[in-house]
Amino acid sequence: MKTAAHEVNRTATQADFTQLLKSNGLKVTKPRLRVLEVISDKKTAIKQPELEKVFGSEIDRVTLYRILASFEDKGILHKIFDLHGTATYAICSSKCTEHHHHDQHVHFICSVCNSVYCLDEISIPKINVPQNFSLHSIGINAVGICSNCQEEITENK
Ligand SMILES: [Zn+2]
Ligand SMILES: [Zn+2]
Ligand SMILES: [Zn+2]
Repeated sequence: MKTAAHEVNRTATQADFTQLLKSNGLKVTKPRLRVLEVISDKKTAIKQPELEKVFGSEIDRVTLYRILASFEDKGILHKIFDLHGTATYAICSSKCTEHHHHDQHVHFICSVCNSVYCLDEISIPKINVPQNFSLHSIGINAVGICSNCQEEITENK
């Protein structure tokens, strides 16, 4: 079964990003628009070092870090840690709002290429925590081989 993760976001335009920033009370700046553009263009979640590389001198590290943190805060992006513990970002579902993420879906991490995929259709069951514990987020990772790597393996046989 093919999973069309974030199909809608991939066709988002500059106007959509401007709207997204405005509706979250964020000032529309070029670096912010650029970060949204790059992240939503990717089929898989994008790693922080990769973002740093893409932007190079265009957006300095500190600014990038701040943008990512504010986007996470506002419910625009969610962070996943890949198999090496590297921070990886994906666009949130439209249901996410400030301080209330609803990305309770499974993330698929490929053990060959280390790509992180959002599996939006697979929701995580409600988890009851002991009394006096407060739950902030749940992360479930499914580890395996993604379709791209699967194809390569078959081709090289
Ligand atoms: Zn979210
Ligand atoms: Zn892979
Ligand atoms: Zn996700």
